[in-house]
Amino acid sequence: MEYISTRGMSLPTTSAGAIRKGMAPDGGLYVPDSIPVWSGTEPLLASTYQKRAAWLLEQFLTDYTPAEIASCAAAAYGSEKFPEAVAPVRTLTPSMHVLELWHGPTCAFKDMALQLLPHLLRHAVAKGEENQRTLILVATSGDTGKAALEGFRDVPGTEIVVFYPARGVSPMQEWQMVTQEGANVHVVAVEGNFDDAQRGVKALFASRDFNEALLRRGLQSSSANSINWGRLVPQLVYYFSAYTDLVQRNIIKQGDPVDIVVPTGNFGNILAAFYARSMGLPVHKLVCAANANNVLVDFLRTGVYDGNRPFVKTMSPSMDILVSSNVERLLFELNDRDPSPVVSWMESLASKGFYDASSLKSQLTDIFWVDWAGDGETLQTIGQVYREQGYLLDPHTAVAWSVYEKYAAAQGSSCPALLVSTASPFKFNRSVALALLGEDEVQARDEFELLGLLARHTGWPVPTPLRDLKGRSVRHKTVCPPEDMGKTVLSLLDKQAK
Ligand SMILES: *Cc1c(COP(=O)(O)O)cnc(C)c1O
Repeated sequence: MEYISTRGMSLPTTSAGAIRKGMAPDGGLYVPDSIPVWSGTEPLLASTYQKRAAWLLEQFLTDYTPAEIASCAAAAYGSEKFPEAVAPVRTLTPSMHVLELWHGPTCAFKDMALQLLPHLLRHAVAKGEENQRTLILVATSGDTGKAALEGFRDVPGTEIVVFYPARGVSPMQEWQMVTQEGANVHVVAVEGNFDDAQRGVKALFASRDFNEALLRRGLQSSSANSINWGRLVPQLVYYFSAYTDLVQRNIIKQGDPVDIVVPTGNFGNILAAFYARSMGLPVHKLVCAANANNVLVDFLRTGVYDGNRPFVKTMSPSMDILVSSNVERLLFELNDRDPSPVVSWMESLASKGFYDASSLKSQLTDIFWVDWAGDGETLQTIGQVYREQGYLLDPHTAVAWSVYEKYAAAQGSSCPALLVSTASPFKFNRSVALALLGEDEVQARDEFELLGLLARHTGWPVPTPLRDLKGRSVRHKTVCPPEDMGKTVLSLLDKQAK
């Protein structure tokens, strides 16, 4: 299997090549040249998450040996990283099944991919001809940064620089990043929002000057954002795994459709569900849930993408995004893999912040159902679900729950829902405590007091990785404007080399 660019102007490469490069040289994203077919649960039944992951990865990473894949999966999803479970499905009602993706080292779903990606990349570099070290550049809306730092810390042959929006992430997310340990890690606050940081990182990948400056330092850049296929492919695994769990528990029969509900920002998680569906996973609707940054709502209903609207800071910061990178892969797929309209849409997006893909409208509305929930609905949902189900939602997952209720009311749900829970409620302790206990209880308390308060109130344990952050010292204080991101990277690397 080879990997081709959504813009059609780069040479095909192997999966290892796509993972090494992160993004195609023509500015497009790599996709496999064909989509493997899944015919049934057999290879996945009665098998561990590691084995399910190995099976899926073998379908896509055909230039990796089965032994390499097995060792990557074992290292990523072992009990050292996921002590309780990897991706458990919690059944709340006969029609509501929550896929919990936050049992990894940073308490958010980004661990599912970022515990694996460093291992995939290590093999990819070994398969390449170049003998450079890899510089991982990351733009984060909050959770990817920490997960990438944990995944890549002290991995030989790599350096990692994470850019996050200053004042644009939750206090716990920021604390997780600025206290990060490791000899090869760098964290920078960008004076701008996530879109500024993401645009800046993409510009660095495309900049000849910057990449030549890296080469002189023996480095080649790559991405740990979901523009990298190596980030996306691990995210297909949990959809197959969850479906198989439901079959095994006799909740559905093999072949029965499910609705998949995903809180969405950069469109990586739901795109993985789309690819799982393309492989044959029985999906009724992909329900896309957005917050007040609701550009995807209009897009998935009409095909018109218009990012020209105010950027809103919400209590689900990991979804505060107006330019969702992975939509480009969806456009490519729905256009029968013809790159030429994709190129003109992406040009229009870059120059006008807007494109009209309304030719795809009927496909989009057929596959997706979409709506959004504001902060008021998010808080209300956290409180209501806790009272009614005794189950705690983080604000991102609460957005998904709230949108699912709108969907069920509008459509009359006909099949079980798999609702993707993307973060531990403790990671967003302030908003969750506010929903359960009100402003007075929350106001004067610091992050760690809030963790304790939530645990006492609910009986849920504080996740160890969050409890252990207490008392850490701040190790990263660099701040820069978006236009200085390249300069900042080089000066961090040079300072470290001294
Ligand atoms: C990243 C993230 C999302 C959004 O996922 P995308 O793949 O960017 O759409 C949702 N919730 C949480 C908690 C996240 O960290």
